[in-house]
Amino acid sequence: MGSAKIKQMLRTIELECESTWRMTGRRVLRQSVMEAMANVPREEFVPPDIKPFAYDNRALPIGNGQTISQPFIVALMTDLLDPRQEHVILEVGTGSGYQAAILSTLVKSVFSIEIISQLATQAANRLDRLGYHNIKVIQGDGYQGLPEQAPFDGIIVTAAASHVPIPLKEQLKPGGKLIIPVGLPFAHQELLLISKNRKGQLRTRSALDVAFVPLTGQQEQ
Ligand code: SAM
Repeated sequence: MGSAKIKQMLRTIELECESTWRMTGRRVLRQSVMEAMANVPREEFVPPDIKPFAYDNRALPIGNGQTISQPFIVALMTDLLDPRQEHVILEVGTGSGYQAAILSTLVKSVFSIEIISQLATQAANRLDRLGYHNIKVIQGDGYQGLPEQAPFDGIIVTAAASHVPIPLKEQLKPGGKLIIPVGLPFAHQELLLISKNRKGQLRTRSALDVAFVPLTGQQEQ
């Protein structure tokens, strides 16, 4: 896949940051995040017939009625997590595995939960084939988080919830960040950035209006 398309994607991310920074607080994303966006081959995470559009700045279908998120949103959510090399991150909503792959280049390890077993299997095989060996994909309902591996330095949810799941708040380390889209299915949703301070108190701010597929599972019925 041509590097011109990747350069164009990076430029579009920069322009979107410029136009949204008053909400996001991020006029420029850290260089390590932009490098991850440049280096992880998005075309490997989309179905064969979609590959020509792999570096377009938009969500794309991945089967089972699900999507791989827009590159700008992936980059922004990654940056908002403040990823560090020693961090252990939980992702809810593996989908194609692309967001997990981006994160895995920046942190120690990623646990990623996917509710649709076919997607979980495909993503695990893909990530293994591409050499992202510090990611563990788990099939299940991410609403409950992953108590046996908690607490996490950061938690990222890539499907829209009706509310912030309490287990995810509880499984965040002091000093950690939880990024989650909250709102109505296919209607108004806000990307919330929740920070837990050293005393364990939570502070929430809205970082952007977004459009994600809904979080499903038992608690969202
Ligand atoms: N992060 C993904 C990527 O990089 O391709 C995109 C995720 S897609 C927008 C949302 C994903 O969340 C879907 O694959 C969906 O099946 C999954 N999902 C929805 N509800 C879930 C739940 N309760 N637990 C785990 N995964 C869930």
